[in-house]
Amino acid sequence: MKERTIKSLKAVKVGIAGNIMLAIFKVVLGILAHSIALISDGVDTAIDVVKSFIVYRGIKIAGEPPDSSHPYGHGRAETIASNIIGISVIFAGILIIIQSIATFGKTNALETLMLIGAGTSIIGKIILSTYMSRVGKKFSNQALLADAKDYLGDVFASSAVVVGALLIIFTGKTFFDGIASIVVALIIMYMGYKVLQPGLQEIMEEQDNPKIVEKIEQIVNEFPKAINPHLIRMSKLGSYYIVDMHLEFPGSMSIEESHRIVSMIEREVKSKIPEVQDITIHVEPFGNK
Ligand SMILES: [Zn+2]
Ligand SMILES: [Zn+2]
Repeated sequence: MKERTIKSLKAVKVGIAGNIMLAIFKVVLGILAHSIALISDGVDTAIDVVKSFIVYRGIKIAGEPPDSSHPYGHGRAETIASNIIGISVIFAGILIIIQSIATFGKTNALETLMLIGAGTSIIGKIILSTYMSRVGKKFSNQALLADAKDYLGDVFASSAVVVGALLIIFTGKTFFDGIASIVVALIIMYMGYKVLQPGLQEIMEEQDNPKIVEKIEQIVNEFPKAINPHLIRMSKLGSYYIVDMHLEFPGSMSIEESHRIVSMIEREVKSKIPEVQDITIHVEPFGNK
């Protein structure tokens, strides 16, 4: 394995281990403190752990080369993983809201324990995030950088718990625990939506990358005999694209000649645009619709 892969995998493992400790710490402290908000925050961190496991398993499967039963490659393994995560996270948020409403005002949250739990979590997440973004930047690993950003987002959830605890201290009203946990649940659901949305766009084959279309047209323009590129369609599979398109040639040109040019264009596109894993070009005589 390359140094980049080893160091990146190590950072992932440190992140997962740190999150497991924080999740257990917050859930246990949340139970001791009778605080739904702190328990929800702990559940949020536990979801992150599961998310990391599934995402990296997905990335591993997605990296396998195409085979006869999956000629487009295995890129959608990543998409399936992120869709499952997105739906489960939104569902977890709904459960927390139901629980918060059912017990609203009836819990007796201990604000000091809430502060200790959420405060420790904020410090821990900032340390983890700084470490992972440093490794991510060093090896320009997008997955690590995304994780580092995600950890900073978790700080908001813990901050809601801190604010809830402070409000309990100043007002003496423990229902702020319920309000804080609803805020945490809304943050959780928003994060779930952010994970789910690109996966749904991909399954619906939404054409989301005009920049790649532009680059393909530029490459075609370097071949003067190839005219009027049109119907450029892209299928996204996780982190790469499969492209097909139409291209016109003079009607008198031999099949041999047009095939030669088309093959060159296909090679150029694949080498100049790394996101394009494969491209098929449909040839037609000039002026055809
Ligand atoms: Zn056409
Ligand atoms: Zn061919």
